[in-house]
Amino acid sequence: MRRPASLRLVVLGVLVPVAILAALGGWMHHPAVVAAGLCVAVLVGLALSKSLLDALDDAVRTARQLATGQFEARMHGSRVAEWGLLSGALHDIGAASDQRDAQLNAALEDAASQRDLFYSIINASNDGLLLYDNDRRLLAANRRCADLLGFSMQDLLNRDTHDLMQALEERCVEPETYHVRLASHFAVPDQPHEDHLLLRAPRRRVLRRHSSPIVNGRGVQGRVFTYTDVTAETDVDRLKSEFVSMASHELRTPLTSVHGALQLALSGSGRLLDPEDRELLEISQANTERLVRLVNDLLDLSKIESGRMPFVVAPVSVAALVEDAARGMQGLASTRGTRITCTVAEGLPDLVGDRDHLMRVVANLLSNAVKYSPPGSVVAITAAMTPEGVEIAVEDEGPGIAPDQFDRLFLPFSRVGAHERQTTGGTGLGLAISRAIIEQHGGRIRVEPRDPTGCRFAFLLAQPDEPTPSLEFREDVA
Ligand code: ADP
Repeated sequence: MRRPASLRLVVLGVLVPVAILAALGGWMHHPAVVAAGLCVAVLVGLALSKSLLDALDDAVRTARQLATGQFEARMHGSRVAEWGLLSGALHDIGAASDQRDAQLNAALEDAASQRDLFYSIINASNDGLLLYDNDRRLLAANRRCADLLGFSMQDLLNRDTHDLMQALEERCVEPETYHVRLASHFAVPDQPHEDHLLLRAPRRRVLRRHSSPIVNGRGVQGRVFTYTDVTAETDVDRLKSEFVSMASHELRTPLTSVHGALQLALSGSGRLLDPEDRELLEISQANTERLVRLVNDLLDLSKIESGRMPFVVAPVSVAALVEDAARGMQGLASTRGTRITCTVAEGLPDLVGDRDHLMRVVANLLSNAVKYSPPGSVVAITAAMTPEGVEIAVEDEGPGIAPDQFDRLFLPFSRVGAHERQTTGGTGLGLAISRAIIEQHGGRIRVEPRDPTGCRFAFLLAQPDEPTPSLEFREDVA
């Protein structure tokens, strides 16, 4: 490329002055002048061509240096004004590129330090963290996660996501439900979801798995999973439950015999007792009955929570369930002077569950509503379809419950309304048992305030496409 260009310049640089001077010499008719003119013309032409070639070389070298990132490269300058302009333009390009390069480097350094900060934060977490994009590709993980799931960091970050899930599935206690349960996390992309992951390898672990959407101005970008090791808490819970179950068993036998003996004493020769002794015996009998109820409720709660309560699963008609429960509570309602109303929406699908246990929940909500309602008030039971499933609700016009107590209400023996419990003979376990039953059915139970007074207890049971794993299991047991 360079040769023909330089040749053309030399030819042009020499020929043009020669032609001009030859024309001048010819015009003056003097051979010596023509010869001198020719010599001068050749010398001037050569000098001019060399200067042009040098400047062109300089420009090409500078441009090449700029192209390879040497932004400090400059042309050496030329006396020809146009080359000076070209030199200036190349200089400006170099300076602008230099500045842009500096900005790019600063941005890259910034991004690298942000990435380091991000990794140092997630690695400092005591919970395992996994970040997925919307296509379920793994974007990031921390060391704690690798440790909890039993993989190396290398494995976690470089292995194919499908492979990784396959390996995790094999480490689960119930591998057959692994994929269904994982899919539930991604089912509603903009909602959080929580469940437990039971691992048998590389060691037995119970992990609480919580996932939430990663959201920015452009919407949901993926999902972050946190894994918390709750093995110790679960073991303590299990031990507590075993202890309660064992103690209740041990208490039940002597209590039953005390209760029987008191009944016998009051029914037979008890009629001959003087009124004060008889009253004492009656108080003992009432308290023994309360103790028997308490022990039975404790046993039931520990069985339901630990999954040892056999559930007989079958289709359950909502209308029959609600109406039977209301009918069964009529006696208590009329002694209390309250009225029960019953509204069931048309065409509700059957529930899938254990009828007796669901009846126990409805009866407990109704009896609470009746017990805590003033005479003359109305207790309403309704069943309706919602986007999330069938909802059965019990509303009353009683004193209601302070909203700050709502969370504690479903815990066993929560002190909410402890004074009422004395008078109503409750054990303080009814709502805890109700929640355990509904959760075993894959549903949710909640309480909310009612305007102007009273409260509304409602439970929701979805119609699962996939059978609820816990219910399926109980059916086998039954
Ligand atoms: P209990 O056997 O004491 O009724 P529950 O677990 O069923 O046990 O209820 C716990 C507590 O919640 C009750 O002691 C009562 O104070 C309160 N409670 C439950 N239902 C109602 C209601 N409908 N209105 C007011 N308070 C209620």
